[in-house]
Amino acid sequence: MTARAAAPAPDTVSAIDTDAVVIGAGPAGLFQAFQLGLQGLSVHIVDALPHAGGQCAELYADKPIYDVPGIPVCTGRELVALLREQLAPIQPQWHLGTQVQALETLADGRFLLTTTAGTQLRARCVFIAAGVGAFVPRTLKIAGIEAHLGRQLYYHPTEVEVAEGRQIVVHGGDEDAVAAALRCADDHPAARVTLLHRRDVFQAAPELLARLQALRDAGRITVVAAQINGIEEDDGRLTALLLTDPQGAAQRLALDQLWVYLGISPRLGPIADWGLAMERKQLLVDAATFSTSQPGIYAVGDINHYAGKRRLILCAFHEATLAAFAAAELVSGAKVALQYTTTSARLHAILGVEHPGAS
Ligand SMILES: Cc1cc2nc3c(=O)[nH]c(=O)nc-3n(C[C@H](O)[C@H](O)[C@H](O)COP(=O)(O)OP(=O)(O)OC[C@H]3O[C@@H](n4cnc5c(N)ncnc54)[C@H](O)[C@@H]3O)c2cc1C
Repeated sequence: MTARAAAPAPDTVSAIDTDAVVIGAGPAGLFQAFQLGLQGLSVHIVDALPHAGGQCAELYADKPIYDVPGIPVCTGRELVALLREQLAPIQPQWHLGTQVQALETLADGRFLLTTTAGTQLRARCVFIAAGVGAFVPRTLKIAGIEAHLGRQLYYHPTEVEVAEGRQIVVHGGDEDAVAAALRCADDHPAARVTLLHRRDVFQAAPELLARLQALRDAGRITVVAAQINGIEEDDGRLTALLLTDPQGAAQRLALDQLWVYLGISPRLGPIADWGLAMERKQLLVDAATFSTSQPGIYAVGDINHYAGKRRLILCAFHEATLAAFAAAELVSGAKVALQYTTTSARLHAILGVEHPGAS
């Protein structure tokens, strides 16, 4: 962005109107959306990853968590599934695999968010639940290669149209890279698939490694151990990678498409440019409302800082709850009374449940 000061209303005719936008679908963002739903507010959720869960899904999906209240033990993946199940009745609108790039204040006090996919969301309040930053693919540091992004170069592609007989190079050494090479060989029998990694050693589940070996033996996948140090182009097309093998010898690898899997890492990205008060990459908030320095913009979870802050999931849940109350009061201009999910007929209607003893 883009200054945070009130901006003249741009051409926002196609913007989608909503009460709230939650930036980040980690545990904080998921529970934030649930709490906003309980307050009767409509919600859109945006995350750079193609799936929900933030660090729980990306960094420790199969590891146990022991300190979520009421759940003696669950894995990161299981916690995300439970949060999504709890959130389902709220029916948020999802925008996955895209980042919030810009955040502007409109003349009428609402906020305009623009994603990297070009979607514009116009909201009355915004919740930044961005954790340690947007999880984005690590990129290649090779001069000139970015010019081929989206035409021949793809980072962590999930679906790429492969023309018959094309030479596909999958670059990386972890499970995502191995799985992509296998998927490519399975889905595109006429393609020539090369798995390129700096060493002929791959980190993946035993069954994937066994399938990789079988396809190597059958001549369906070729493994090349080398580092990329340059590219060859012809008339604007990427035609080959220039490599150095472990013995230091130069090699040339012809290709039509390059699929890169070098892992995912968090980047704070544009949030630091939104003019909000920060301290060492954290957004400063009021611990009564979790409002940032800009009224109407809240920050919850690992991205915020206040006296006594602990980066724990249960703290994020508390923050999200108070932020939702504060936002509901800001939007309605009136005090919002506490209601229990156990007994409130209004909350039961929102959650789609029936309870005989409801008030
Ligand atoms: C190995 C490990 C083990 C842990 N174990 C525990 C534990 O046992 N108990 C516990 O309480 N905590 C634990 N934690 C900490 C816990 O995971 C974090 O506190 C929690 O994930 C924070 O949630 P969050 O939603 O704030 O952020 P995150 O989980 O980081 O999610 C933030 C999301 O926001 C997205 N995002 C950021 N910027 C943008 C943008 N501009 N546009 C779109 N999307 C964006 C990111 O892609 C990400 O998905 C652990 C952490 C690690 C790394």
